[in-house]
Amino acid sequence: MAFDLAGLVAAHSGEGYELHGQHLNRQVPRMLHTIGFDTVYQHGEGCWVTADDGVRYLDLLAGFGVYGIGRNHPVVRHALQQALDAGFADLVQMDAPLLPGLLARELVARSPGMDRVFFCNSGTEAVEAALKFARAATGRTRIAYCEHAYHGVTVGSLSVNGGREFRAGFDPLLPDVSVPFGDLDALERELRSREVAALVVEPVQGKGVHVVPPGYLAAARELLHRYGALLICDEVQTGVGRTGTFLAYEQDDVQPDIVTVAKALSGGFVPVAATLARAWIFDRVYSSMDRAFVHASTFAGNALAMAAGLATLAVLDEEQLVANADRTGRLLTQRLQELATQEDLICDVRGRGLMVGIEFGQPRALRLRSQWTMLRAVRRGLFTQMVVGALYHRHRILTQVAGDHMEVLKLLPPLTIGEAEVDVFVDALADVIEQANRSSGWVWDFGRRLAQRAVTG
Ligand code: PMP
Repeated sequence: MAFDLAGLVAAHSGEGYELHGQHLNRQVPRMLHTIGFDTVYQHGEGCWVTADDGVRYLDLLAGFGVYGIGRNHPVVRHALQQALDAGFADLVQMDAPLLPGLLARELVARSPGMDRVFFCNSGTEAVEAALKFARAATGRTRIAYCEHAYHGVTVGSLSVNGGREFRAGFDPLLPDVSVPFGDLDALERELRSREVAALVVEPVQGKGVHVVPPGYLAAARELLHRYGALLICDEVQTGVGRTGTFLAYEQDDVQPDIVTVAKALSGGFVPVAATLARAWIFDRVYSSMDRAFVHASTFAGNALAMAAGLATLAVLDEEQLVANADRTGRLLTQRLQELATQEDLICDVRGRGLMVGIEFGQPRALRLRSQWTMLRAVRRGLFTQMVVGALYHRHRILTQVAGDHMEVLKLLPPLTIGEAEVDVFVDALADVIEQANRSSGWVWDFGRRLAQRAVTG
């Protein structure tokens, strides 16, 4: 029997939501129906996705950052086809295959201060490795993390996750220590116990899009080293060019001890993640031949993931996407800041490169303020969800709220976007805000529907 994937897809087109409701996490289709995002997508290319009714959406969400080089990039597709055609003796396990070696060399060359690489399959796994490596290197147990941090949801990563909503129901977690983001005094107070192995921190926090204060990472590293602890930069989201440098920490005049990357390294095709560290840390973890597999993963370094990673880095270089993230990110932020000076509803625009947050705040105008308060009373973040919904339904632009219970709209576009897409987005946002200012426009109709659904569940 010939298996026919295309035939299978054609025969069941449009059944995804029903199948998820029956066999996967049924809350996901419920939530998507509620917010009106239950579209069936068929194709993706660059920064666009196309639905089954032929409507194209500008994708400023990029699969939560996976599509750094855009969707279905032909260079990565070709590399993967070549890897399949080669019929490699992959995952022999008792060998030292070429492709992980080549990708590790490329990553180390782009990551100041890093010497060695451990490959794995997801962001949270890369963080797990970082936590274990810090423990092994220091002989200490506790990990410090920042309030509102997000590092993944497996048990180790969850222990350093600053979102209460993620932790609830999964206790007990590992011994951990939370410190306010950017607060050096609080960090030093915790370090005095000399039990802390490391601080794990995102240079730009994904939840809420908060950029690390200037000088914080360098000063934190100084403090950490003074107390015998390590600095881990979690660059799962910020890494691979997102912020305008290959790694975000390059802009903070610091070299961490351990770094994690994932998401965009995949080219959007094959999951891949990596934990990079200084050589002495690897030597403590893998301290003898007996410990050669003491931290490992069956699929680590598989040929398809490595081919995707190598091709992705080549595309980043060839198309100068890191420089574009810096240039287009500045343009986008500047245009949004200009809009914010005219619009009472926008209280802050922040970010680094193409990781941008737009925060909404209570308007001064009385009628508008009562509408705002109405939504706020139902659920914090509902106003932003209303804007996200309006951008999606009226302007066919895909964005997201930057986290639970926050009034921050987040943009995480492919690094391939240029001035044209910036214009499209800024004009669309200006239109949505103008409608919101009228306090009776279609935006608020959508907001009221959202509020009703949120109440009735
Ligand atoms: N760390 C950071 C900074 C992240 O943004 C994420 C994912 N959003 C993770 C870790 C977890 O990655 P994954 O979902 O691949 O496990």
